[in-house]
Amino acid sequence: MTIFRENRRARLESTTASVQAERDLLVGILETLSHSRHMNEYLEQLVEHVRNYSGCRCIGIRLLDDEGNIPYTSYTGFSRKFYESESPLSINSDKCMCINVIIGNTDPRLSFYTDGGSFLSNGTTKLLASTPEETKGSTRNVCNLYGYESVALVPMRHKDRILGLIHIADESENKIPMEKVLFLERVGAHIGETLHTFVVKQERELLLAQVLRERQRKEELIKAVEKEKGALEIIIEYTDAHLAYLDSDFEFVWVNSTYAKGSGHAINELIGRNHFDLFPNEENQAIFEMVRDTGKSVKFHDKPFEYKDQPWRGVTYWDWTLTPIKDSSGGVQGLVLSLVDTTERKKLDQLKDEFLGLVSHELRSPLTVIIGAINTALSEQARLSQEEMHQLLQDAALEADSLSHLVGNLLELSRAQAKRLFLHAEPVSVENVAQGVVERIRQQSSAHRFVIDFPKGLPSVSADQLRVERIIYNLLENAAKYSPQGGEIRVFAKLESDRLVIGIADQGIGISLHDQAKLFGPFQRLEDSRLDGVKGAGLGLLVCRRLVEAHGGQIWIESEPGRGSTFFFTLPLRQTAT
Ligand code: ADP
Repeated sequence: MTIFRENRRARLESTTASVQAERDLLVGILETLSHSRHMNEYLEQLVEHVRNYSGCRCIGIRLLDDEGNIPYTSYTGFSRKFYESESPLSINSDKCMCINVIIGNTDPRLSFYTDGGSFLSNGTTKLLASTPEETKGSTRNVCNLYGYESVALVPMRHKDRILGLIHIADESENKIPMEKVLFLERVGAHIGETLHTFVVKQERELLLAQVLRERQRKEELIKAVEKEKGALEIIIEYTDAHLAYLDSDFEFVWVNSTYAKGSGHAINELIGRNHFDLFPNEENQAIFEMVRDTGKSVKFHDKPFEYKDQPWRGVTYWDWTLTPIKDSSGGVQGLVLSLVDTTERKKLDQLKDEFLGLVSHELRSPLTVIIGAINTALSEQARLSQEEMHQLLQDAALEADSLSHLVGNLLELSRAQAKRLFLHAEPVSVENVAQGVVERIRQQSSAHRFVIDFPKGLPSVSADQLRVERIIYNLLENAAKYSPQGGEIRVFAKLESDRLVIGIADQGIGISLHDQAKLFGPFQRLEDSRLDGVKGAGLGLLVCRRLVEAHGGQIWIESEPGRGSTFFFTLPLRQTAT
């Protein structure tokens, strides 16, 4: 009777203890959950609660990830070596009891698997020795190799998915009663639920972080685009290119200010107007239509254009590209027109070509005279009188002189162009220089009367004598050339503070105000001089300007058509030029 009562008490006590342990585990897990903010924190404490509950030394939690890996996300008691050899297992490439539990491949008819899908052995050495290979399937026996006799692997589930397992191990045999495994199976479902919540929360946080990152990236992108847009707008506004965007009916949608200025219309006069109503041009209209209809862009170089509404502008030249802008379906919704005015360049090119032609001609004609004169002198030596011979040689000498002068002008110009025009300044009497030059010119033109009119006692200037000679020669030669009826050519000077003003006046054809503006520029020959058939390369005045400016002086003209011209230039009394 006593024994019976004592047994009953012992049974009662043990039941009470196990209920107490189960209660402790549940309370512990719930408390952990309430103050864990991250899954790792929760799992760290979970292993401690399971250890307390099971009384075993080693506890680990394996979680199954999307790639099939089953790493230990938290553990206690296992050695680092055990963790490193076991944690990298994958359900795709490894085979063992733990893999079977995680993939739910457990046969409850085998004594070491429970109906709930757990593995339990309280003596792994005996189990391995007594169970045939074909029954237990392939195992890695690592737990046993590390000396763990009591081993339990309990799945953690969320609904019908296994999320991972609780690994319990101890070196002693019989440490894990079946009831604890069964209780843990029930708790495993609760833990699975919690893990799922954490995963969802984590995914949500990740998603949120991703959305925030994406938003930040977009904001940065918008800022960068706005900055670029600002830069682009500045470039578009200040470029020399005339830019316009036209819709498919060729109405102006947008133009930059260069375009507006170039077209001679204000921006608001252009927008909404048809390009070809404003600037009618059948050829260009056909090109626009071709680009719109084929969707292919076109490019032109130096294409001539005349503004019908502004005829005074004459022929202008343009490099242009016309590019179609397509919508997402490939249809042309508008055209971008980009124009670069090449009129000046084109005119300069034409002038250069003309200049080369003129210079070659100017070089060839004196040479022809020189060669002819020398050949005649040689072949007709016996028949020619001394006087005739003298005339021939004098002709050759005069032409050689003009040839050498022309080549000299070319050289001066190329030196000035290369910024290598160096002066040898010395005190120079301009009157003496003018007299010398007049003597030379007189031999070429007997139709003119040359007068040198310098006041007495003029000081000398500080200048390069040969250059002063060249300036006066060029001006006197022009005065003679452009006074076809002869007349007086006067060289005069006057003192003006620290400079001498020298003038060369003729009674020739004169120059209109409009043409005066073009003088002294490169390769300028005026229409009047061409009509008269006077020789020249359009070099003399440009050389004069370069030489006068190199001396620190100025050059200008006063003239009236039909009433002669006076060219003035100044030279410093003291050295200022380099
Ligand atoms: P060119 O070799 O043609 O004379 P210049 O540079 O000396 O070249 O002169 C440029 C142009 O200026 C001439 O072609 C001519 O049309 C005009 N010109 C120069 N000097 C005179 C002048 N004294 N009277 C009228 N026109 C002149």
